[in-house]
This record gives sequence, C-alpha cells and structure tokens, in this order.
Amino acid sequence: MTETTDHGTIESHSLEVESYPPSAAFKEQANLADPAIYWQAAEDPESYWSDQARKLRWSKPFTEALDWSNPPFAKWFADGELNVAENCLDRHVAAGLGDRVAIHFEGEPGDTRTITYGELAHEVKRAANMLTALGVEAGDRVAIYMPMIPETVIAMLAVVRLGAAHSVVFGGFSSESLRARIDDAKAELVITADGGFRKGRVSALKPTVDDALRLDDADGTPSTVQKVLVVQRGGNEIEMQPGRDLWWHEEITAYEGDHTPQGFPAENPLFILYTSGTTGKPKGILHTSGGYLTQVTTTHRDVFDLKPESDVYWCTADVGWITGHSYVVYGPLANGATQVIYEGTPETPDWGRWWSIIQKYGVSIFYTAPTAIRACMKVGRQVPEQYDLSSIRVLGSVGEPINPEAWRWYHEVIGGGRAPIVDTWWQTETGAIMIAPLPGLTALKPGSAQVPQPGISIDVVDDDGNRVDRGQGGLLSVARPWPSMVRGIWGDPERFVETYWSKFGDRYFAGDGARVDEDGDIWLLGRVDDVMNVSGHRLSTAEIESALVEHHAVAEAAVVGADDETTGQAVVAFVILKSQQQLVSEAEAEAELKKHVSGVIGAIARPKQVFVVTELPKTRSGKIMRRLLKEAAEGRDVGDTTTLADTAVMQTISQRVRTER
Ligand code: ATP
Ligand code: MG
Repeated sequence: MTETTDHGTIESHSLEVESYPPSAAFKEQANLADPAIYWQAAEDPESYWSDQARKLRWSKPFTEALDWSNPPFAKWFADGELNVAENCLDRHVAAGLGDRVAIHFEGEPGDTRTITYGELAHEVKRAANMLTALGVEAGDRVAIYMPMIPETVIAMLAVVRLGAAHSVVFGGFSSESLRARIDDAKAELVITADGGFRKGRVSALKPTVDDALRLDDADGTPSTVQKVLVVQRGGNEIEMQPGRDLWWHEEITAYEGDHTPQGFPAENPLFILYTSGTTGKPKGILHTSGGYLTQVTTTHRDVFDLKPESDVYWCTADVGWITGHSYVVYGPLANGATQVIYEGTPETPDWGRWWSIIQKYGVSIFYTAPTAIRACMKVGRQVPEQYDLSSIRVLGSVGEPINPEAWRWYHEVIGGGRAPIVDTWWQTETGAIMIAPLPGLTALKPGSAQVPQPGISIDVVDDDGNRVDRGQGGLLSVARPWPSMVRGIWGDPERFVETYWSKFGDRYFAGDGARVDEDGDIWLLGRVDDVMNVSGHRLSTAEIESALVEHHAVAEAAVVGADDETTGQAVVAFVILKSQQQLVSEAEAEAELKKHVSGVIGAIARPKQVFVVTELPKTRSGKIMRRLLKEAAEGRDVGDTTTLADTAVMQTISQRVRTER
C-alpha cells in the first residue's frame, strides 16, 4: 500500500493473491517454455521484432526495423513491402494447407458453413476483382457495416488485398454514428448486408445505411459514398437504390478467382477503427500493415499457445471492435488457425448456446470478455455444466480487468480447473496484446494481466514519468515504440499528440492506472479518469469492484467517486445481485455490502451509498461507462449516451438515484 498520494500514485489494497503455476503437462507441450525469451527480447527488441516479422512473407524484404526519427510518428519495417491478405491466405495455400478449415461458421438460426483456406482465398480473390471493377484502389477507404458472417472477413481481406483500408463500423451503431464515420474516412464504398440474426430475429442493417446516406452533414454536403454493396443474409425486405446499390451475390458471379497479390509498403494504411468511447468522443485509430501484422501474429501464437494444426480457436468478439480485427481476422488467419465464427448473442435460443458450440466444434482456445463471463455467472454454473467442455485447453480474457471472483469461476467452470487463463491487456491504440501471461511460463494470478510481452517495454510511472517502486500504483505507460502501435488519429494529428504524448514526451500514456506488485507483476486498476480521491486517498475502481463481486450475492459492480462536501469524493457503488439472490431486501444488501468492502479493503473504501440496480450502462463493446454513473450519482443530468448499448439504462438509474437523494 502506498502512503504518498501526491504524485499520481494510486493506493492499492490488493486482495490476497493465489498463484497457479503451469502444470507439467502444459509446460511440456508449450510453444514457449524457456523464460530466456524475455531477456533475449529485452536486450534487443528491434531484432526480436525483426525475427518475428521475417516469419511473414515479404515481397520486398525490409532492411530497417524501427524508424523513430520523427516521434511520436513511428515507422516499422518501412522499406519492406508485403500483401496482408496474401499472408493470411495464399501463403497457406501455397504451403499445402488449402484443405485446412479456416472458418467454422455458425449462424444464429443454426445454419452452418465450413470454409477451408483454399475456399477463403478463392472467395477473397473474386471479391478483390469485384472491388477493383467498382473502382477501389490502393489508398482508398471502404466502410464495412456488417453482421458476424464470413462475408465480413472476405470483404475486409479483399479491401486490404488491393492496398485500400477498411473502416469497420459495428453493426449496432445508429445511422448518425455510421455517417460520422463514413464522412471522417471519406469512404466511397459501403459494404453491408440486408440484415443479420440477433436474439432470434433479423436485425436490419441496410435501412440504417440508407438513412446514414440521406443525412446531410453539418455543412450540408452529401456523403462521399458512390456505391453500396449488399450481402444477402437476413432475407428482410430492403430498398435498392438503382445506380448506387448492388447485390454482392449478383455482382460476384462475373468474377473469377484469379488475382495476383501486389506488395504494398509496410506503412500502407490497413484500417481505421474507432475506440469504444468509454472516456469521451471515439477516436479514429489508424493502423498500418507490416508492424501490425507482425505483432498480432506473434501474440496470437504465443499468448494462446496456438497449435494451428490441431487447435480450434474461438474469439467471441465482434469484428466491429479491435479484438475482432486482431484476434478474429488478422492474427488467426495469418497463423493458419482453424476458428469458429458465431453470428449471434450468447443467450439465443438460451444461455447454453456458447457451450454447445464449444462442444460441437471441440473448441480448444476460447477468448472472451469479463462482462460476458459475469453475465454467465449470474445465470449460474448449472448451464455450462450440462456440456462437454473438456476440449478447452487455454482461456483468454480482454476488455476490462477481470475480477478474481470471475477469474476463478471461468477457470473452474469453463476451464475444468486445468486450462490456464491469459488476461490480456491492450487497447484499440496498441493494436495487439501488450501485457499478458505466457501460459507455459507464467504462474497465474487471478485479476492481474501480469507481464509485458517479450519485446514490449511497459512502466508504471508517477505523474512526472518516474517509475514507481514495487508495491505501488501509478500510470501505465509504454516506454518504447512497438510494431502494432497506433500511427495516428485519422485526420487529427493534434489530438493524437495531445491524448497520448503530451503527458510524458516520448513515452506513450495509456490512460489506465496500474500497480506493480512485489514480483513485478502488473495489476490494472481502471481508467485514470475514474480514479477516486477520498479524503486525499486515491482509490482504484477495479479493486473496490472486485471486493464487491467477491461477495456471494453480487453478480456485477461499478464504483465511482461522487463529489462530496466533507471527503472531496465519496465512493458510490452500483451493484447487480445474482438471480438467486433477488429475495434479499435492498436495504439489507446495501448495509451488508458496505460492511463487506470495509472488511476486505479497509474503512477508507467503504461506499457511502450502494445502489442495487438491474443493469449497468455499457458501451456496445460491453465496457462499463463509469463517467455516466458519476454524473447520475452527483445528481447531474446525464450527457451524451449515444455510444451506450442500451440508452434507457441510464434513465432508470438516474431515477433510482434521485429517489434516494
Ligand atoms: P475510449 O478510448 O474511446 O474511451 P475504450 O478505451 O473503451 O474507448 P478500447 O480501446 O476498446 O476502447 O479499450 C481499451 C481499454 O480497455 C484499456 O485502456 C483498458 O482500460 C481496458 N482493458 C482492456 N483489456 C483489459 C485488461 N485485460 N485488463 C484491464 N483493462 C483492460
Ligand atoms: Mg481507450
């Protein structure tokens, strides 16, 4: 625990720590089992990353790894040339792996498709020919607004095969959000679908595209979009505007599967993707080709201990988020992995859906988010226990800190007490995993992402950029450029410099609080913007939330610091109780939980108020939006809620708070 609270350090009252070393059997077969990898990579990170990059196919080899002559604008492998789609497809087919399954697709209504690498390469080549005929060229941007179906992956790879960049917009976004992203990127082509299946019915997409393109932007200019390509999926009735809208399945028939990939410079833009908007207006993050592909491929192989010839991998993220880009599309395909893609929601037709998919395909590596794990915990272990999950050998978590309680449940109920859990910390901006255990090497600690990846240099620092001592908390920063790092905020270089580089100069400021423990392991403490200051003590949201979730009645918790006359800020907690605990009275639950937090962490962290709620405000990627809860707790009007998955949630919560005040 830290006593000084002035230099941007965060107090930490960490809960008791267990440790789960890798089993002898796991170590025996692990891709990485020699800890020397860490110091070898640290000695010369550029040569480590060059070795990784050379595992890809370069049409023109690079001669220099990193160019940091114009910070904070990094270039990696800049004089090399490669084709990203060729690396994900043709390379495997050429190596004789054309018959390996690339995608086991499971539609929400139960329809399935199995697509081999040979077939996927063929479809991407045809699509690339079709896009060329539609005028797509290197340097263009194409907007993609799709459900989770194979054509989404095909569209992304066809775009990048031509040297153009995609901007995937999550299918849950409104016409305004879609239009803002189309305008920002000046996309001339939109690829969409009539609709996709969600929660047992068709959720329309094309009408939202129509609305988006009808809207005039602020100065009344029409959109840049010339063509809309529509995949048939939902079967819902839609309007097709003659001259603008084309059916994918009709167009594609005219094109053959011959297409020679051209190499593009390593720094050619690969995609733009907007952050989820937890801390404010989403940022259009730009990623480029060679460095990005190098780091997603390396981390996907090493962090998940991937054996492409035998594993069946499944990442549940939507392709509209960075996790879907890096660990559904580019990492797994560049590694030649076999993966599951599922279109729908986990509760359709019932909460057994995910587990039935794991059983059906023999999924061996499963990667999901804490919010989903907590939702499954809330429903109860009796559901997954009805399925055979014995194929699972590695589990992953991403998106938020995973509370130790959720970690233990995931480990025991889903992982059979055997499968290691890799808690992966990274961001849209980092492009790939930065901090995570290596499952054959790391003794796991529930709740901690633990170790920077080989070749990645992370420090926890105080406000002045000085490294904090072990046992202390501070700000997470990346000390050296990394291959898959953000290259800029699209169209806004000033915001890029201001957001990430103005705080420490050439050190990247991640915006997250973290603590280093006595072993040097890193614990994420939540957003720096969310850190609370109670009577001069800086407290972490993640630790208080973990303490609350530790209580047997609590399914999920969010904690904020609300302005308070006497203590500066006061801890205010919002909790969701487990289904079987609904009978406990709210007053009892509140009193009990305040006492519980004092007992686990200390009196300083005791919540002043505990609100029992039925939902928490979350972004569409499932992250808790604490800044809205803070506004509600302070009795202020809740501002912009457009990035929320369910905008009604905040009304209910504000009302709940108002009756109490
Ligand atoms: P915005 O930047 O617009 O507020 P966002 O940060 O939610 O949106 P992402 O880039 O998807 O958008 O999320 C990255 C953030 O998610 C990290 O900065 C961190 O706060 C959190 N995060 C991701 N993985 C982990 C993890 N394993 N442990 C703790 N926090 C995590
Ligand atoms: Mg962020």
